[in-house]
Amino acid sequence: MKNIQTLPTPLAIPPRLQPDSLACVETVAQLVTWAEDRLRTCGIDTSRLDAEVLLAHTLHISRACLYTRLQEMVSDSQKNDFQRCVVRRTRREPVAYITGRQEFWSLEFQVNPRVLIPRPDTEVLVETALRLLTASRITAPRILDMGTGSGCIAVALATELPHAHIWAVDRTRAILSLAQKNAHTHQVGHRITFACGDLLAPVSPGPPFFDLLVTNPPYIDPQVLDTLQPEVRAWEPRAALDGGADGLDFYGRLLYDSPDYLRPGGWLVAEIGERQKDAVVRLGQTQRPLRFQMCRPDYAGRDRVVVFQRTADVEP
Ligand code: GLN
Repeated sequence: MKNIQTLPTPLAIPPRLQPDSLACVETVAQLVTWAEDRLRTCGIDTSRLDAEVLLAHTLHISRACLYTRLQEMVSDSQKNDFQRCVVRRTRREPVAYITGRQEFWSLEFQVNPRVLIPRPDTEVLVETALRLLTASRITAPRILDMGTGSGCIAVALATELPHAHIWAVDRTRAILSLAQKNAHTHQVGHRITFACGDLLAPVSPGPPFFDLLVTNPPYIDPQVLDTLQPEVRAWEPRAALDGGADGLDFYGRLLYDSPDYLRPGGWLVAEIGERQKDAVVRLGQTQRPLRFQMCRPDYAGRDRVVVFQRTADVEP
């Protein structure tokens, strides 16, 4: 039973609850406490937050609005819907897959288990790309996003760059249709071309073409993958996480192929895992038309985004 002295917020204190029964749980406040208890028992650190987000989702209201309705009764069908959400969460399914939504770059994205849940760290990649384009005064950049997933990077860039045209590539039509939905929701669908295939393959290399290649490729070492939290290892798509031996497979291919697609002076901006910077920079050194420019840290200070630039002249 919860120690009510430790409740961190002003939610009303419910009567004693049966841990697994919803029979005597009637109000919003009681449901939150019931779910928080269940989730905490399952070892979920964010039990209170998750309980509130899932109840707000079930009731189709904002989380803030929950606080204005604490004493309201909840219908049996809403209770059942909420219970189903909580049970899913007890199996360590990520909240974003249960609600089908995740915020990124202050925009709401639909997500499903076919795509990685957008992470705040990836906003550093968007920010880096925007800085490079702004500094070079390219007003109508041509950008390619490889492994677009939910489309979060492509859509965030498109909303910030009203004259950009973006190509977004991923390996299945089902993934692209989700990315496309997100692009339409944020009214940038007409400026993103969606193409199905592997990395650069669906965009035929003509003359070097793009100002910017961006990517958050799979970069987790498969051995490490099995040690990650269950929300990641059991629920998120392995194909979006598993970067092969040392997590570096994709960088080798990207660095090898990208000079053929970048105009001279164009950039490759890629997310990396912590402690991968040196290895990725070394891989880049073997690709002479590319020069390593910088590495930017994420909000926790870990190396997160590398930038390479295609040199003006391709040396023989
Ligand atoms: N940043 C993600 C994680 O640590 C991995 C993303 C990726 O492999 N591209 O779970």
